[in-house]
Amino acid sequence: MDFGTRDTHDRPRRPGDTPRPVSFPVRSPDTEAVHAGREDLAALGLHAPPIDLSTTYPSADSRGEAARIDAFAAEGAEPEGPPVYGRLGNPTVARFEQALARLEGTESAVAFATGMAALSAVLLARGAAGLRHVVAVRPLYGCSDHLLTAGLLGSEVTWTDPAGIEDALRPDTGLVMIETPANPTLAEADLRAVAHACGSVPLLVDNTFATPVLQRPAAHGARLVLHSATKYLGGHGDVMGGVVACDEESARRLRQIRFATGGVLHPLAGYLLLRGLSTLPVRVRAASATAAELARRLAADPRVARVRYPRIGGAMIAFETHGDPHEVIAGVRLITPAVSLGSVDTLIQHPASISHRIVDAGDRRDAGVTDRLLRLSVGLEDVEDLWADLDGALGPARAERVGVTRDAVG
Ligand SMILES: *Cc1c(COP(=O)(O)O)cnc(C)c1O
Repeated sequence: MDFGTRDTHDRPRRPGDTPRPVSFPVRSPDTEAVHAGREDLAALGLHAPPIDLSTTYPSADSRGEAARIDAFAAEGAEPEGPPVYGRLGNPTVARFEQALARLEGTESAVAFATGMAALSAVLLARGAAGLRHVVAVRPLYGCSDHLLTAGLLGSEVTWTDPAGIEDALRPDTGLVMIETPANPTLAEADLRAVAHACGSVPLLVDNTFATPVLQRPAAHGARLVLHSATKYLGGHGDVMGGVVACDEESARRLRQIRFATGGVLHPLAGYLLLRGLSTLPVRVRAASATAAELARRLAADPRVARVRYPRIGGAMIAFETHGDPHEVIAGVRLITPAVSLGSVDTLIQHPASISHRIVDAGDRRDAGVTDRLLRLSVGLEDVEDLWADLDGALGPARAERVGVTRDAVG
């Protein structure tokens, strides 16, 4: 009896093997969020993805291992079968990578210990290719700005605005980097125009704020899509990670850098990030709806001088108050006064004091990160509860304050 042949990609393998990417018809991101990276589980008799904590993998065939290591060193291809050693790859982390690649619509993804480890690997990979010049658009996340400005990894940066990218390119430019919406001002750029200006130079888009739910930069011509997975992908404020979604050729270089420099994502973190992805679309949509309403109320409030809410939506709001921003931070009771973003609870922080403190004050202000700017990461609480908290933290309106003073005087 002929049971038919199945593609080797579909064949149930041992639970320890690195899951291989499977090609499926194009499905909605909502469906991918729940199923990608998990396609082999039912055949393995599992529901939840297994967490493989192995640092090493036994093999009696050292000749075979040598060939696998040679293949990795030469090409950066993931070893067939179990990884040799945890720094070469991990099956649980590979599930997260496959799922994120599907959500971003890229061939591959490579995960790292943090977002900064991911950016470091990109810079090292470009530098190793002799292309150490980077063209970047401000604002970027404070530490990304610092890493480029300080040239810690041997890169040299030219800062420009989107319109100046083409003129800033040099023969040794290995990367163009942009965030949109940008941290913390939520400035937006036209990704298609930016990608066009880059020509053949790879464009890296930090998609941490938008997430693949709202924007898939690869579809607009970005070669590399970076995430601080610590934020929306994990989504619960309890796991750090970074990831670069890209073509397989770039992924191979990044895996080799990760192997050589060691910024691997821990398998437990890989598990939590994969779990986080499954609720990413519903979290982002719910928080975005609340954020849009809060942005509307802030914009109509006389105590608020400016509000920035992205055209593409999202759960981040940037705003400036007429009063002292430090008083707003000190005044919240429900909202968490903390740096970071993308968690289930709402967070507020003062970028000039915290997330962008490491950037030179002049550069910071030039990029629109004023001393009055506050950054709000809207979570999943009820909109009325959040508004009540913001309303209290913003303090009395100026007109009321005048009234109070008059009463006191009178
Ligand atoms: C937080 C953040 C990073 C850095 O990520 P870590 O996981 O903290 O290393 C990079 N880019 C953006 C936009 C961020 O918000």
